[in-house]
Order: sequence, then structure tokens, then C-alpha cells
Amino acid sequence: MNDMKGDTSPHIPVPSGHFIGGKRVDGREELEVLRPSDGGVMGTLPDASDDLVDQAVCDAHRSWLASGWGTRAPRERARVLSRWADLIDANADSLGRLEAIGSTRPIAEARAFDVPFTAECIRFFAECADKFGGDAVPTTHHSLGLVLPEPYGVVAAIAPWNVPLSMASWKCAPALAAGNAMVLKPSELTPYSVMRLAELAIEAGLPAGVFNIVQGRGAGAGAALVRHPLVGKVSFTGSTRTGAAIMSEAAHHGTKPVTLELGGKSPQVVFDDAGDIDAVAGRVVRGFTSNAGQACVSGTRLIAQRGIAGPLIEAIIAKIDALRPGPTWREPSCFPPIINGQQARNIHAAVRQTMDEGASALCGADFFEHDSKGYYYRPTLLADVTSRSLAVREEIFGPVLTVQTFDDEEEALALADHASYGLAAAVHTLDLGRALRATRRIQAGTVWVNRFGRTWDFIIPTGGFKGSGMGKDLGRQAFEGSLRYKSVLIDF
Ligand code: NAD
Repeated sequence: MNDMKGDTSPHIPVPSGHFIGGKRVDGREELEVLRPSDGGVMGTLPDASDDLVDQAVCDAHRSWLASGWGTRAPRERARVLSRWADLIDANADSLGRLEAIGSTRPIAEARAFDVPFTAECIRFFAECADKFGGDAVPTTHHSLGLVLPEPYGVVAAIAPWNVPLSMASWKCAPALAAGNAMVLKPSELTPYSVMRLAELAIEAGLPAGVFNIVQGRGAGAGAALVRHPLVGKVSFTGSTRTGAAIMSEAAHHGTKPVTLELGGKSPQVVFDDAGDIDAVAGRVVRGFTSNAGQACVSGTRLIAQRGIAGPLIEAIIAKIDALRPGPTWREPSCFPPIINGQQARNIHAAVRQTMDEGASALCGADFFEHDSKGYYYRPTLLADVTSRSLAVREEIFGPVLTVQTFDDEEEALALADHASYGLAAAVHTLDLGRALRATRRIQAGTVWVNRFGRTWDFIIPTGGFKGSGMGKDLGRQAFEGSLRYKSVLIDF
């Protein structure tokens, strides 16, 4: 776990303060921000008061009106956003370093994936800007009926810590392309990389005040944003519990619409006709260990046909054994840490409780030994579980895979459906009819067949069913969700 030759240094300057009116705004630096990999102090952070949030939202609203961002030609907005994406690509190295050191994203992945993915996401929504207009609708012969999309004004975005840059682009790019101003509150655990994103937006020509960042705790700064009367819509990604609180606050303060991207408990269903076991094991392992399981779509429930369960589990364990933990700044890559001590303890407690309920651990169930203050949890397989076991019921947000077996398709699909979550699911089978039956039957916002995870096709939206949320990120649905529709009827 000591730094290796060629690793980047974790000691880098961080962009402090809030970002309001096109520049950094200092605040009383009250919160310590720790590097997840070694627990060292990365920097400090102000915790926005209600007054500061009010200042940021009012400034965003004023700038939105004064700059004409919402009324200018959509192609002009597209040009600014495209320049922003180009600047992100041009700064990939420094942004990747900031992202990796301040989060759980290994540097190789941050550079190869997170940063270019962020830029491409912004490009996709830039291209949406002039593609989806309103409708001229059929009405009487002496009238003209129109349905006209309009931006909300100020959209608030509240983001989690697991993939800070990409999350910011999912939330901000569609809203800005649709002509809104933004106030983003990143997670207080991973606040810095998005500050560079905001600076690059200004460099690209976004009018000052149209994209703002307030830093601070959720219950303070986050809740004040949701309540603010000039916030027209809230776009949230985070836990199901916080999503419920935000929905309730939004209902009581202006009945404003909310997009909620929440937690999941995604199944990975493997039939005995899935083909090469080793290849399937690779998908299953990536599905639940990527970002050390700290991904909303993490495939944390293995549901395997009885005949192949034994060899599949053996292949999975062999792949897990090859994973080596290490600080996120380690080149070329590593198995990353858990975000902080509290979350690490939560993961371990959930594993122990599931074992107390009767589960047996086939591997893991403890921390890797290491010599830093980071928390690295061993990928864990829990067998002998039922749908009542804690690790099957609840999102753990760590590298923990429960194992259930089935005899026939009906049983498999019944197990796949979760009582409270419906974010994503994967089905592994080479039988086309079976795959299609499964995609129709499983109640989840995304179903993957013979793969696990997204592609770079931003046209495919993401979002959950049931307790996993409402509304969509990505896709034209996210762009259209950033607009409200006005009906106009003109008699002539
Ligand atoms: P969290 O709900 O604790 O926090 C998310 C954000 O909400 C943070 O910025 C936090 O400061 C803020 N917040 C907390 N309480 C608030 C309140 N009362 N009012 C307003 N804002 C508040 O989630 P987390 O621990 O940061 O992230 C992990 C969770 O995010 C997991 O449940 C994961 O599944 C989910 N997630 C979902 C998706 C998706 O697309 N569905 C993607 C990534 C993460």
C-alpha cells in the first residue's frame, strides 16, 4: 500500500470555496475533506448557510434573466457547451488527478473513463439543444394550438460522491442545454473536481452566474436549495432515504418537480445456457466490484441456475483473488477504497448482521490488511441467504454479492424482482426468447442482456422504477425533463 514509483502525488492544491457569479467565493472553511485512499486531509470546505444559498439562487436567477441564456438561439447554447466539453478534454490530466485523489475513482479509470465521459455527456446534450421542439397541435380551423417547451429558470442539482464529475455532467448538461441556470450542490465528501468544471464552463463562454456551486452539508445547504422559492426544479441523485426527504420538502415548498435517481439492489441472473462461464464470471465480478461496489447500479444479487452455480462461483472467487487494493493515485489501476470510515463500518455491520441471520461467507467479509488510514473492503460473497436477509433487502453500497440459486425460469425471474428497488438488472443467457421474456418481466429501469454496465450511448436514459426513483438522467428524456410545457391557443 505504499506509493509506488510512477504514482502521482496525492498532495495537490484544491479549489476551495463556493462558485457563484462566475468566480470562487470564499466562505468560513468549516469542514475537513479527507482523501478516501489514505484518510489524509485533502483540504477544507465552507458549509453554506441559508443566506449564502439564497445569494447563489438569486444571483443565478438574475444572471439567467440578464444574460438571456434561456431565450438565446439553442445553437448558440450548443456552441458554448461544446467548447466546454473540448476544454474538459484538454484538461483531462489535471481533472483526472483531482477526481482520483479526492474520490474512490482509480486514476487510470478517471482519465480513461470519467473525464472523457463527462465531456461526451456535455456534447450529447449540446446536440440536443435544437433537436426537440414543441408541437403544433390539431384544433379548430380558426385556431392555432401550440405546445411550447420553456426552461424552468433555476434548476437545483444535488449530487452524491461516488462518481462526482460524471454525476455533475448528467445533472447540469441537460438543464443548461435546455436554457436553465444551475445551482449544484456536490457531495461534501467529494467537492473539488466540479469546481474546476465550473471554471472551465466560464472559460468556454457560459455567462457568469448561469452555473453555480454551493458547498456544504446536505441537511443544511442541500435542504435550503430545495426549499428556495426561485428554484423551479430539483434534480437529485443519492440514497432512497434522502430522495424521500427531498420529495417531501419539494412538495411543501412550491410543489416543484423532482427527478430522483436513487439506490438499487440489481440482480445478475445467470442461466445454464449463458455460454462461457469464465466470461460470465468476469461480467458478474465487474458488476459488483467496480468502484468497490459504490455504484447505484451495482449488480449485488447473483441469481444462478443450480447446475452451473458451483463452477460459476469458483470462477468468480478466482477473479476476486486477483484484485489488489491500492490508493486511487496508483498507476495503472487498483481496487479502490470505501469512501470513509463510517461507510466502511456500515458495510461490515451489514455483512455481519446477514451472517448472524444465517448466511455463510464464501470469501471476504472483512477488510484488506494495509498500512494507511484508508478502508479497503474485501469483495464478499454471501451464500445461504433468503429474500428476508439484510444483504438481499437493503442496498449496502460496497463490494458485497449475495448468492441465490434457482431451478427454472419462473423461479429465477421471481427472485430477480426486488420488493423495493428497480434500478437495473442483468440477464445472462444465449436463448433469445428467454432473454426477451426476462426483459419484459423484470421491473427495473434498465435491463442488460449478456453484459453489465452502460455504454457511451448517451441516448440511452437511466433511471429507476419503484424505490429506485423517478424521471430519467441521460437520453432525450433528461433534456425534455429539464423543460416545462406551455399550451398556447391562438384564434384568428
Ligand atoms: P446521500 O443521499 O447521502 O447524499 C446525496 C446528496 O444529497 C449529497 O450531496 C448530500 O449532501 C445531499 N443531502 C443529504 N441530505 C439531504 C437533505 N436532507 N436535503 C438535501 N440534500 C441532502 O447519498 P450518498 O451517500 O452521497 O450517495 C450514495 C447513494 O447514491 C446510494 O444510495 C446510491 O445508490 C445513490 N446513487 C444513485 C445513482 C442513480 O443514478 N440512481 C447514481 C449514483 C448514486
